[in-house]
Amino acid sequence: MYDNNPTIDGIKSIDESQQGSVFFKESPTPGLRRFYIESYGCQMNFSDSEIVASILGDIGYAPTRNMEESDLILINTCSIREKAEETVRKRLRVFEAYKKQKPGTVVGVLGCMAERLKKQWLEEEKLVDLVVGPDAYRDLPNLLGGAEEGNRMVNVLLSREETYSEIAPVRLDTNGITAFISIMRGCDNMCSFCVVPFTRGRERSREPFSIVAEATDLYTKGYREVTLLGQNVDSYKWDNPETGEHVDFADLLRMVAEIHPDLRVRFSTSHPKDMTDKVLHTMAAHENICKYIHLPVQSGNSRILEMMNRTYDADWYRNRMEAIRRIMPDCAVSSDIITGFCSETEEEHQDTLAMMEYAQYSMSYMFAYSERPGTLAARKYPDDIPEDIKKKRLNEVIRLQNAISQIQNKADIGKTFKVLIEGDSRKSDQDFCGRNTQNKMVVFAKKGDLKPGDYVTVTIRDATSATLLGDIV
Ligand code: SF4
Repeated sequence: MYDNNPTIDGIKSIDESQQGSVFFKESPTPGLRRFYIESYGCQMNFSDSEIVASILGDIGYAPTRNMEESDLILINTCSIREKAEETVRKRLRVFEAYKKQKPGTVVGVLGCMAERLKKQWLEEEKLVDLVVGPDAYRDLPNLLGGAEEGNRMVNVLLSREETYSEIAPVRLDTNGITAFISIMRGCDNMCSFCVVPFTRGRERSREPFSIVAEATDLYTKGYREVTLLGQNVDSYKWDNPETGEHVDFADLLRMVAEIHPDLRVRFSTSHPKDMTDKVLHTMAAHENICKYIHLPVQSGNSRILEMMNRTYDADWYRNRMEAIRRIMPDCAVSSDIITGFCSETEEEHQDTLAMMEYAQYSMSYMFAYSERPGTLAARKYPDDIPEDIKKKRLNEVIRLQNAISQIQNKADIGKTFKVLIEGDSRKSDQDFCGRNTQNKMVVFAKKGDLKPGDYVTVTIRDATSATLLGDIV
């Protein structure tokens, strides 16, 4: 995973033998030092930033939303597409200008791009003092100590055990009603287009009791919805070393749902090859497990799915969709779609459009294929679909998805849903917004002394492709 060359021109890179060594220095006046963090990419990254905030809090750093008052600037990066990395580079220019005004400021790069580029960061970006991979956040106090002594620190060790399970996240940018709980880290799938297995390492599941404790703590603090997070939640598994008890994802879902009927449970992301009927029956059996599944398909064509190494074909995917419809007819499904993957023909693209027509997704994350360095696809397949064709196919997919979402949402007019109030609608503070069990955003006029965290019953009177509009009944 990393080279064993400990020092290059004042750069101290941490390997096993130096873990926990002398650099750490207690903050002279706890709470006076402030850190500013920007997070990009998937929910796992935002959840990790809350772990980082907790670790920094223990050594006297308080979070600030104002970069101008920060002593430490961190960017938690995403590497999933070229565009994501360009965004990070642009932000570093802003940090660079700030650091010129306040030279003692420590700048750190965290997350997947830190892991992908490792020490290369220090050669490419002079302003960067810290490079910390997703499994090395516990080492931040030590790395910061070294940086405060003028060293440039790197720790990109990936772990097979690390789950940060006992670290209580510090909730950042929260509405106080909904929160994310990471239940596992890493991914053992090797989808050929994806960098995650290289930047987040092998799969490991967190022990369930700390997850239930975190969800229970959130409920007592007024949160009314938790989303269980993992790259592939369906392969969650934990074996109790004492009792030999085996806990799979369906068991974990039931354990969290049984905390309290008013605590809603969501999860992301599922994988078609691992999603079991047991999970679907557990969802159907608990009203507070939301009837919504994010089930990435990526492509509707089996030859392309094989090249993507998704380990299922189009028939298997339809089989899973049939199971969802059979067991939970009112369950909404969303997806991820990549257009223009290596050698994709027009007919194979049409298969993806046909799969969308069949699946009737409530929404989808849709992207043109972006070759990622070091991935299986980058090594084996030429990125041979011209950019304009990729874009044309992406626009067709987006147009179709918007049409489907519009039809689906229009079909909800007249229906009544239980909605969890999350806060004021973005458009008007006279309205509340919240989601129904299908994860659809609902906007409705405020009434009486209702407040965020309350459940209301709303009848839908109108809809757009993104939002349902209704009235409290
Ligand atoms: S399941 Fe595939 S796409 Fe998702 S994180 Fe794992 S390797 Fe990447």
